[in-house]
Amino acid sequence: MTVHNATLIYGDGIGAEVIASAKKIIEETGVPINWEICEAGAEVFKKGLATGIPNETIESIKRTRIALKGPLSTPVGYGEKSANVTLRKLFETYANIRPIKEFPKVPSPYNGRGIDLVIVRENVEDLYAGIEYMQTPNAAQCLKLISRKGCDKIIKLAFEFVRSENRKTLHCASKANIMKLTEGMMKQRFEEIAKDYPEIDAQHIIIDNCAHQLVRFPEKFDTIVTTNMNGDIISDLASGLIGGLGFAPGANIGQDVAIFEAVHGSAPKYAGLNTINPTAVILSGVMMLRHMGEFEAANSIEQAIYVTLGIDKVSTRDVSGSQGVSTTAYTEAIMRNLGKTYVRTPTRQYKPIVLPRVAKLPVVKTRRVMGIDVFIESNLNPADLAAALNKICTQSLFNLKMICNRGTMVYPSLGILPDVGDLYRCRFILKDEESNLKDNQLIAFLGLLQPDFQWMHLEKLNVFEEKLAYTRAQGED
Ligand code: NAD
Repeated sequence: MTVHNATLIYGDGIGAEVIASAKKIIEETGVPINWEICEAGAEVFKKGLATGIPNETIESIKRTRIALKGPLSTPVGYGEKSANVTLRKLFETYANIRPIKEFPKVPSPYNGRGIDLVIVRENVEDLYAGIEYMQTPNAAQCLKLISRKGCDKIIKLAFEFVRSENRKTLHCASKANIMKLTEGMMKQRFEEIAKDYPEIDAQHIIIDNCAHQLVRFPEKFDTIVTTNMNGDIISDLASGLIGGLGFAPGANIGQDVAIFEAVHGSAPKYAGLNTINPTAVILSGVMMLRHMGEFEAANSIEQAIYVTLGIDKVSTRDVSGSQGVSTTAYTEAIMRNLGKTYVRTPTRQYKPIVLPRVAKLPVVKTRRVMGIDVFIESNLNPADLAAALNKICTQSLFNLKMICNRGTMVYPSLGILPDVGDLYRCRFILKDEESNLKDNQLIAFLGLLQPDFQWMHLEKLNVFEEKLAYTRAQGED
């Protein structure tokens, strides 16, 4: 029998109770696990460590490559960054997998609809890279970074996940209709990669429609892959469909490390009361057992939960109010039911998931820079700004192509002036459109702007293999 190694982090608030419950049940299945018990979270922050994660914890996860963790909180006044986000980034756990499955006798407006879906959320890129700037004292900007490699990893993992759980359909939910290059890359890579998985029904859906359909017909979804922020929002929405946070498990999967944790936080006001629902963490432990290849033990715990809720009608207070039993009594009920099955909710046939390898990134054969977007702080009206910039352009290599404000073109005028702010994006295209802008030419041009204008930000307008590598402004031809 293989002895598995795993790092165990109790975490903060209700963490101690829910992790203790999951550990007890896992141990009762007989799967041998050598737990390395480690610290992270509030107490660590309070000791003065700005990351909230001691080196011993990091070293333990590097060794075991598997962690089961309770929720971590960041106490007010200690550190700026969440220890959870730091862990995800440190170990590049690029996929966040959140199953949403209906539980017997757990009241929700969707009872009996047979919800059984999984959201596979990209976990490290997108707006959550947290790259933000004040461009002017009145305009803030956050960079939405999406890489081809990041898309390929999460999409391939989602297809492999569908295979491992013997599922049938994978939706890619994106906002590619508006953000054509970032969200569009996710959609385009999804459609390309889908060709390698012909047995899976691969469909694209726009994220807002996906949210709408999830509320109306959640039972129609099987698996959904999506970018970080979309995934954050729809996975919380989806956990609300099946009885709340007490029932929403999760896994953060990377190439080398997997960290299993419930979706919920430390719920401090319930800490130590022995009343909260440990199901989400127990099911995170079930996902961990499958990751270890311990399918029988995992299935046995899953079925014992169904029997406890569906036949014994034993549940915690979040489900049955004052009739609810304590966390420890619920845990013991599950332990007694190990080995029993709940026929109405059979367990799926699981296979080990194959972690994808991403092929080498393609190299473009031709590229040039045909112009620049310069973000300028100005309180001039668009016509006066354009007149001043056109004058500067006469002594330069550039023509002023357009000016826009918050994405809408204000020069040349479309006839209606939107309510403009003090940050303008001014697009300058080389007079010789086929030539390739050199950095020294660009710097010389900035020198011409500088006496009159405060520029904040610069973007090169690239052309890769004769395709424009930027989007047009709203209204630009
Ligand atoms: P929370 O998830 O801790 O609690 C919100 C509410 O949900 C609770 O008041 C409770 O009514 C209910 N709830 C949550 N878990 C439950 C359970 N197992 N059983 C029954 N009811 C449950 O969210 P919050 O109050 O916004 O956050 C508290 C702290 O947790 C914050 O410091 C936050 O940063 C942290 N947090 C950590 C994680 C994580 O570690 N992954 C995730 C979310 C929040």
